Amino acid sequence: MKELADGLQEVRVLPRNIDDYIPIVGEERIKNLKELAKPLQNQKVLNLNATAFGGGVSELLKTQIALMQDLGIYTEWHVMRAKPEFFEVTKIFHNTLQGSNMVITDEMKEIYVETVKQNAKMIAESYDYVIFHDPQTLGMNYFMDAPIKHSIWRCHIDTSEPNMQTWDFLYPFMQSFDAVIFTLEEFVKENANFKNLVFIPPSIDPLSPKNSEMSEEEVNKLMISYNIDPDRAIMAQISRFDPWKDPLGVIDVYRNIKFGQIQKGIKGLQLVLIGSMADDDPEGWIIYDRVMRRAGEDFDLNVYTNFHNVGDVAVKAFQYASDVILQKSLKEGFGLTVAEALWKGKPVVGGKVGGIKLQIQDGVNGFLVSNIQEATEKTVYLLQNPDIAQKMGKAGKELVKDKFIVIRELEDFINLFRKLSL
Ligand code: UDP
Repeated sequence: MKELADGLQEVRVLPRNIDDYIPIVGEERIKNLKELAKPLQNQKVLNLNATAFGGGVSELLKTQIALMQDLGIYTEWHVMRAKPEFFEVTKIFHNTLQGSNMVITDEMKEIYVETVKQNAKMIAESYDYVIFHDPQTLGMNYFMDAPIKHSIWRCHIDTSEPNMQTWDFLYPFMQSFDAVIFTLEEFVKENANFKNLVFIPPSIDPLSPKNSEMSEEEVNKLMISYNIDPDRAIMAQISRFDPWKDPLGVIDVYRNIKFGQIQKGIKGLQLVLIGSMADDDPEGWIIYDRVMRRAGEDFDLNVYTNFHNVGDVAVKAFQYASDVILQKSLKEGFGLTVAEALWKGKPVVGGKVGGIKLQIQDGVNGFLVSNIQEATEKTVYLLQNPDIAQKMGKAGKELVKDKFIVIRELEDFINLFRKLSL
């Protein structure tokens, strides 16, 4: 990260080559993408978000920015600067936009407006396109003095049943954009009115250190280094420690299988919960403490974070090593972790919510579940039927290849840029 003269932080990404994706999506598709990007040569794009690390947005930006640069589009990524009290407020906005019932006070609104205003004033350069990510940066556009040709807000969260107090406060900010992007139609209120409303689901980078191939030997070696026995059954959830990801529910599912009446001969089952602590998520440690309390002294229940050195390669190893991946979210914007697991040929048991419904075809590449009982039954089924689990994992990989590879998302963005510049 580099401190900018204007006070924001610039995140530098490792270069990527678009031609490396030819073996995955084919020569024709890459040729067409390059053609599509031609009118945007040397145009300036800025991405603004709240953190360079942890969570789906930073995961997406790492690859997209590198590939846009390789396509000749001058693309930057800046991270806003804010005090912890701002992130306390924006986490409450995040939670209430996803439906929780908390009161939004005038003091919170003031903290929000002051911080986005200060951040907006830090940007002096001109840009052709600025993409503001999530509620944290949403208010900035309204206060921007810098000449921006086209402003875009991208909402990554599940706003299907928002608390109207927060939605009503933030809605005028949303309307200040030339385009707004949501992942699903059900995330947008029926009476919402935007200049341009676009739906773009996220995607994964199959060549990133997190998603590339890994030998069984390497996977096993890493598992042993984390005290996990690769020869026994493994179920895992990889997600921020966030109430919406329901890590406590995942522990209940594991306990049901291991100690409940439903166990049906799955011996020595191990649960792995991996959660990174994002800089802009002050709730992480609170939920982590609750997870540890519920985990207790069970040595087959392993909880690791980025503070235990669990980086991209370790996440990949846990995904490859698992027999079943859970993503038992109660609300979910998209859930990159689902696509990541499917890409590794693993079936996923996921909450029947938001973006998970785009990725799991019930009974085909995993199961959609609505409660702990269903999650328990489907996880047991997959653990007991490894051949079916393997078949489902294969179907999942095909779906990801078809719909959720970064090339598709680049096409969507470049099409949007071109549409806005007409
Ligand atoms: N992730 C990670 N380490 C962890 C937990 C999560 O690298 O310990 C990554 C995960 O692999 C995925 C991203 O963080 O790429 C989470 O994105 P997702 O869309 O699933 O959820 P979000 O955190 O954005 O709500």
